Amino acid sequence: MQKLNVVWLRNDLRLLDNAVLCSALQHAEKSAAAILVLYVATAETWVLHDMAAIKQDLLRRRVLQLKKELADVGLPMLAVEGSSYQQLPQIFSTLCQQFELNVFVQTEYELREQQRDEAVEQLILKSGGQFIRFDTQCIMPPGSIRTQQGDIYKVFTPFKRTWLAQLQANGVHCVGRPQKITQSELQLPEFPPLQGGDGSSAGWDVAESSVLELMRSFCREKVASYHEQRDFPAVDGTSRLSAYLAIGVVSAAQCVARLQLEAGNSWSEDKSGAGIWLSELIWREFYKHILVAYPQLIKHQPFQSETAGIRWQNNKQLFDAWCNGNTGYPIVDAAMRQLNQTGWMHNRLRMISASFLVKDLHIDWRWGERYFMSRLIDGDFAANNGGWQWAASTGTDAAPYFRIFNPVTQSEKFDPQGDFIRLYVPELSKFTGKSIHWPHGAGLVNYPKPVVDHAEARKLTLELFAEVKKTHAN
Ligand code: FAD
Repeated sequence: MQKLNVVWLRNDLRLLDNAVLCSALQHAEKSAAAILVLYVATAETWVLHDMAAIKQDLLRRRVLQLKKELADVGLPMLAVEGSSYQQLPQIFSTLCQQFELNVFVQTEYELREQQRDEAVEQLILKSGGQFIRFDTQCIMPPGSIRTQQGDIYKVFTPFKRTWLAQLQANGVHCVGRPQKITQSELQLPEFPPLQGGDGSSAGWDVAESSVLELMRSFCREKVASYHEQRDFPAVDGTSRLSAYLAIGVVSAAQCVARLQLEAGNSWSEDKSGAGIWLSELIWREFYKHILVAYPQLIKHQPFQSETAGIRWQNNKQLFDAWCNGNTGYPIVDAAMRQLNQTGWMHNRLRMISASFLVKDLHIDWRWGERYFMSRLIDGDFAANNGGWQWAASTGTDAAPYFRIFNPVTQSEKFDPQGDFIRLYVPELSKFTGKSIHWPHGAGLVNYPKPVVDHAEARKLTLELFAEVKKTHAN
């Protein structure tokens, strides 16, 4: 039987810095195996995971583009339309009838992904092949950053300190582009070919070269002012790489390597633009490490277990007003409309709108987590769960529950001229100056009245949290 090394791609959809692909190639060379890159779309599981339509489209477009990029270096790709994760063993079993398989994959940490991989691994082992995992989602693999006592960090700042010490000690390593290969055409079984998407992500370039250029130009031209601009949604001051990092068109290691190249030593300064951008990439790693160490998070349980008892009010009408950007709080509405219209939301606005849902509307943070996932092009379980638990004060290194964002003050501070609000809330287009942050009164007809009173809502939040803290203390 012909030997075949299968590189089963998931959220590592790139040629450069792809250790899974490179290792499979090296192994194939030594063992005289052929090589095949595989991608299986699993639309039913995506729906189960609330994956946004725009992210599904981005994935499909990226895979079809990657197929062409792989062909340029002689690598064949099989892009298959599957249904759910349950179908994977069947696909591999069909391949096993024809080939002696070794399978190379990037480790995924979530529950269904682990179960899926175990099922396929059993099948491959039974057939005499190997199932080889590579822990390449993070620069420092989960479990590798520990306290002197060997524990996992629950707080970001000391995690970051140790993470940076490891970076200083070991540097960051990226794997190069695979060499062009020639192999005779594989006779593969028939599978349903990957379908195109709905085109909703068309504004996002999916060529690997374009994404690399976006990352490189950000490091070259914008990162120096990141610390001054990153909090202002009307300014294009952040990298906009999240969607690409989430599906692995670019890796975090590539970002850090380029940052070090372009920013001199400033990346190691806490308060420089480069230093703060690096911190954001470390937050990304922190949340993945936490997810692996505390698997209850994968089941949407709060990290601080006592907060499971909070009496969320879960008013469906208020939830709908929030989802649709009709709360009467202009910055929240602009944020939600940005999400609904573009599939992306600025980080400052994610914090404001998440805080508003939980602490002004008293709605369970999991409703918001799910809604974000169903709309975000960059939906990433660890970052989304971490962000929501931070905002809800239920997480590892969360905002203390008594620190409650005032949406109007936040708006005045981070959208001072109202430029961002005017972009997404046309009802307020005629407002200038400070009144745009609280436009109520003054003959306003077609914009919703505020759905809650912030001061009252704040009081109730404090009571709800005090209640569970008290029960816990007893
Ligand atoms: P930049 O500011 O340029 O940051 C660079 C990269 O660092 C980002 O692309 C991202 O990969 C990472 N990053 C930045 N901030 C964070 C953070 N706080 N936590 C983890 N990683 C971070 N990010 C996602 O990628 N997917 C999500 O599903 C997601 N959901 C969020 C939900 C909430 C409630 C909050 C508060 C934050 C969430 N974030 C999420 C984090 C952050 O808002 C986005 O990563 C960021 O806005 C993306 O824009 P950018 O690529 O321009 O980021």
